[in-house]
Amino acid sequence: MLVVVPVFGETRLGNPVIMIGSYRFNRVRSKGPKIRWTCTKTPQGCRATLLTIDDVIIKTINEHNH
Ligand SMILES: [Zn+2]
Repeated sequence: MLVVVPVFGETRLGNPVIMIGSYRFNRVRSKGPKIRWTCTKTPQGCRATLLTIDDVIIKTINEHNH
């Protein structure tokens, strides 16, 4: 099984992203330390989501429709 390490990065516009393999997640504006990240294809119906606290991923729903 291939182990894919999440990579924290930034887009060219300076927005934070997390990359897992070929998938990218955008940060969702949220209050408090818990931050939700959604797949860049969320507008196309993808439901993959990450949750982080202090840059540590605590939950991964890595099911993509693409
Ligand atoms: Zn996706």
